[in-house]
Amino acid sequence: METSKLFLINQDDSKAEYKRIMEQTVNALTASITDDRAYAGPTPDELKKHVYVDDILPENGLGWDAVLSRLNNQILPNFLRTSSTDYMAHLHSPATIESIASELILSTFNQSMDSWDQSPVATEVELEVVKKLCAMYGYGDGADGVFTSGGSQSNQTAIILARDWFCNEKLNFDIKKHGLPENFRKLRMYTSEISHFSMEKSAHVLGLGYECVVKVPVDSRKKMDLAALKQLIEKDKAEGNIPFLLVATVGTTDFGSIDPLKELYDLCKANGMWLHADAAYGSGVILSQKYNNRIAGLNLCDSITVDFHKMFLLPISSSAVLVKNGKTFDALTIHADYLNREEDEEDGYTNLVDKSLQTTRRFDALKVWVAFQTRGKDGWSEIISTSMENAQYLYQKLKNDKDFCVVTEPEISSVVFRLSSAKCGGDEQADEVNKKVRRSLIHNHGVVIGQTVSDGRVHLKFTLLNPLITRQKLDSLIELIRKLGTEAK
Ligand SMILES: *Cc1c(COP(=O)(O)O)cnc(C)c1O
Repeated sequence: METSKLFLINQDDSKAEYKRIMEQTVNALTASITDDRAYAGPTPDELKKHVYVDDILPENGLGWDAVLSRLNNQILPNFLRTSSTDYMAHLHSPATIESIASELILSTFNQSMDSWDQSPVATEVELEVVKKLCAMYGYGDGADGVFTSGGSQSNQTAIILARDWFCNEKLNFDIKKHGLPENFRKLRMYTSEISHFSMEKSAHVLGLGYECVVKVPVDSRKKMDLAALKQLIEKDKAEGNIPFLLVATVGTTDFGSIDPLKELYDLCKANGMWLHADAAYGSGVILSQKYNNRIAGLNLCDSITVDFHKMFLLPISSSAVLVKNGKTFDALTIHADYLNREEDEEDGYTNLVDKSLQTTRRFDALKVWVAFQTRGKDGWSEIISTSMENAQYLYQKLKNDKDFCVVTEPEISSVVFRLSSAKCGGDEQADEVNKKVRRSLIHNHGVVIGQTVSDGRVHLKFTLLNPLITRQKLDSLIELIRKLGTEAK
């Protein structure tokens, strides 16, 4: 074995090899971007041919140079380019350059966040970042948090903490020890009908089932309807059901709408329920000095999901769940002799596995530590405000255009609209036209936009996370969509 070429170690030839491979990679990456498109256009069948290799585990290794050349030919040109201003399909962001450098650092040292002895400096960075995040979102002493694989896991973690807290405090029942209480089918959590599907998925995984999740209607602004929520809670109580959790969405996935936090907080207080804020999308609004009042009341919630791989433009993955009462993390603590001994805590060694559903876990907190300091309040405020103002521009433009219908005024940075039925000859025909336009954009124009359903009809979606998107860009895309719509009829 050529030992010096296996890892980065304290030997000159190992360091030289590390640099050579990293430099070649950086060169290949920058050279692979030769136009502005979001996607080169191949269909699934074409891609299957591109990625095919005779033997993924050849008898003798091909060596890095040969594999890099395959990467160059088969893979790199076909990546979706999230940093293109022609990409606006999902809450899926481009990654800032300094945060990509942070990925290299955390992969090079490959720390694991479960125990202090696997991640000494990384553990202390995560603790520090979590402390600063709790303060930034307005939590006081006693708050805590942990990094997770994404918003779905952050939500699931919060639901577990809420469930166990409620059963301990209100039903005097320890789920951790005994499993679900006998009357578990009566437990109810409330969330809007357009909240993220991780609510139902979590309810299923936690043994509560979809029936535990009460879907609350939304109003014309796509926010949870308070009167309907109150009625649903009263009806459930009258029927002997047990409301334990309310999940507010702070930035719905499609529309970016924000549920009324202060009113929801009062309702939770009055009913002894936990209030969780799924701010996977809207958490980034905190950085906009102009618009951060839109998420006022977030600090009232018992827990908050924050996704850094959406508005914060960090590489996947980076997410955290913050909790007002850090003691509730006890639900996830279980001691293992080899990992998180109780005496460690007494001596000041933190083993973060105590708060996490994961064991081996990435050092994603480093990216936040780097990103926040690199661009500062001003830099971040400009990024977030720009994308919010772009959405406002697009909304005003489409609202006044007879060829389009737009669903609702954006509160964050997403605009959902469609080529209008009047223009396309009826609702069903308009659905087909809108679908065809999106497909044509991907394969013929390298433009990737979103598609969803609102009020039963197919809609198109621009998710404007990329602050480099200009108004001229939006104007020209709308003209292209208008033209493709006419051709698709
Ligand atoms: C994206 C999103 C999630 C899921 O987050 P992941 O990081 O993709 O797991 C949850 N809730 C909302 C509102 C989202 O937009």
